[in-house]
Amino acid sequence: MSQFINTDTDEIKKFDKVAQTWWDLKGEMGTLHTINPLRLKFITDGLDISDRKVLDVGCGGGILTEALAKSGARATGIDLSNDSIEAAKIHARQEGVDVEYRYENIEETASKFEGQFDAITCMEMLEHVPEPGKIIAACSKLLRPGGHAFFSTINRTPKAFIMVIFGGEYILRLLPKGTHTYKKLIRPNELKHWAQQSGLEFLRLASLIYNPFTGIFKVVEKEDNNYMAHFVKTNS
Ligand code: SAH
Repeated sequence: MSQFINTDTDEIKKFDKVAQTWWDLKGEMGTLHTINPLRLKFITDGLDISDRKVLDVGCGGGILTEALAKSGARATGIDLSNDSIEAAKIHARQEGVDVEYRYENIEETASKFEGQFDAITCMEMLEHVPEPGKIIAACSKLLRPGGHAFFSTINRTPKAFIMVIFGGEYILRLLPKGTHTYKKLIRPNELKHWAQQSGLEFLRLASLIYNPFTGIFKVVEKEDNNYMAHFVKTNS
């Protein structure tokens, strides 16, 4: 099996290039640090993760993975940006946080660890792969029955294009230019459809809303540009 199955290698190169900036709070990835407590709360509102086996798919430099571990989860992170995985390992070691990081394709992880995770998190990753539905199916395969899946991505609407890509990347510089491509963005009903096809039942959707005047993000219980969704794996 090719390591890069269902992977856009240009995307991986982009993340290899910024791998040294993952933990720079004021650097290119600063926005992920800003929203991280809100993402973590969305997850822990839905599931008590203490002592649970959690897999963070497309973990990058481990911003969320480390936070999961610090909240008591037995956390593993996988990613295909080798430079990011290395940066994640170094940071976890420096922080003394116990996280397992693997440079591995999710299909391979799913064939080795089928049904073994209590929860999967896959944040800001689905919009970077050719076939997000297959990633969701692999996430479902990795979950035990009753396990939880948390995804976040960006809506494919003209408003999201203007605010996230044009505004966020080119005007406000909240993200590196070229991070996102419009046609790869995902509508909530597409995400829900793929999840349902994979045996995941929908529980909650909420969005992160950015106020450009205060620089503050807040969580609202509706579909907007940047949204998070929570599912549970049905028993069948
Ligand atoms: N989830 C992290 C990082 C998001 S950036 C966070 O939110 O903090 C997107 C990440 O997805 C990058 O690290 C990139 O290398 C990874 N990625 C892209 N395609 C992938 C694939 N096919 N398999 C695994 N990781 C992938």
